[in-house]
Amino acid sequence: MTPQPNPQVGAAVKAADRAHVFHSWSAQELIDPLAVAGAEGSYFWDYDGKRYLDFTSGLVFTNIGYQHPKVVAAIQEQAATLTTFAPAFAVEARSEAARLIAERTPGDLDKIFFTNGGAEAVENATRMARLHTGRPKILSAYRSYHGATSTAINLTGDPRRWPNDIGAAGVVHFWAPFLYRSPFHAENERQECERALQHLEDTIAFEGPGTIAAVILETIPGTAGIMTPPPGYLTGVREICDRYGIVFVLDEVMAGFGRTGKWFAADHYEVTPDLMTFAKGVNSGYVPLGGVAISSAIAETFARRPYPGGLTYSGHPLACAAAVATINVMEEEGIVEQAARIGETVLGPGLRELAERHPSVGEVRGTGVFWALELVKDRETREPLVPYNAAGTDNAPMAAFGATAKAHGLWPFINMNRTHVVPPCNVTEAEAKEGLAVLDMALSIADEHTV
Ligand code: PLP
Repeated sequence: MTPQPNPQVGAAVKAADRAHVFHSWSAQELIDPLAVAGAEGSYFWDYDGKRYLDFTSGLVFTNIGYQHPKVVAAIQEQAATLTTFAPAFAVEARSEAARLIAERTPGDLDKIFFTNGGAEAVENATRMARLHTGRPKILSAYRSYHGATSTAINLTGDPRRWPNDIGAAGVVHFWAPFLYRSPFHAENERQECERALQHLEDTIAFEGPGTIAAVILETIPGTAGIMTPPPGYLTGVREICDRYGIVFVLDEVMAGFGRTGKWFAADHYEVTPDLMTFAKGVNSGYVPLGGVAISSAIAETFARRPYPGGLTYSGHPLACAAAVATINVMEEEGIVEQAARIGETVLGPGLRELAERHPSVGEVRGTGVFWALELVKDRETREPLVPYNAAGTDNAPMAAFGATAKAHGLWPFINMNRTHVVPPCNVTEAEAKEGLAVLDMALSIADEHTV
């Protein structure tokens, strides 16, 4: 669909937004949200008719792009048939979505508890782990993001936790591997893996194994920097959890449903958790949906004892119909394979090539359509291009990088000193190349801030 410029409507939308919408994570008077007129595939456009290639997939959720006609039609059909129904009933869209998800999750994660998004999935996974083990503590990693509700924000290992931090009882943070900024001063992946596993074991020993309900990890930490774990790490964590009877939770809210070039990031590491959280890509974010995939052992705990948790809209028919259609479209159109192919043949090589030419790129890492460029002032010292948690003028180099990308029609994902390259899983080769060309220009601006 060709964008129809309509600046007057855009101005009215913006004025109403500024008057009445209270935005997430923002100082309300310091933001200037773009008024979006429409979107299709990998692009969206504003009311002036300016188009942007979306290298953010919204908030990393439009895994099949915007407005896929089959998913839109499925939502319309569900709305016409049965728009809503309470969670205690068996409803076709809900049971079919659960079946399709369970068939794709690893191992015996065969039961699905539906939520409205990722944070609620994390809340319920931790609740299940505590009730299953009868233990209070949850261990989670620094450099992680698990959502903004009470337990989820406390589990989160990034600065957004700080203002919300009530020192939640039972939450303990530990360091997960990240060789580029190794918390263990490791020199290679093998060392990083060994030391990270030893550190986790030590943490468990000092916290008391019998007090720990769960270890939660993002399979590939996303928001914190797309840090692919070293070989052997996740299977090592699995072994440690088994040794102490600790529930292993993998958070696949961002990495799941094709983003890494497999259905789940766990499939890359041949690891099966006891609980797996998901959201976002499950239905490309068309209607809010998340959930927890539950192993048979944990499901058994609640076979004859009520599970003390629930949500009014758990398994909402519209959201589930969108999930059924999304998963079917992903199969029919080979979208998971496409994400893998684009990662291997276009994004991976293209981003590495940019890293060779731009001194501001310290590291490129990722897989599928899940990549991060770590921008630095100095490649030798690895000093970040902007300080940790920078704001205002401190953040000027990243702001300039972002403004350049947008001026050339690319909407980039920016978090601290990184840009994440996270287009839809069905981004085409031409679109991926178009985005790389704009990143090339924007990185030249970032280069001006290197030593
Ligand atoms: N877990 C992970 C790994 C995430 O990336 C996110 C959101 O980005 C969440 C949980 C929270 O999901 P939501 O914002 O849907 O509550």
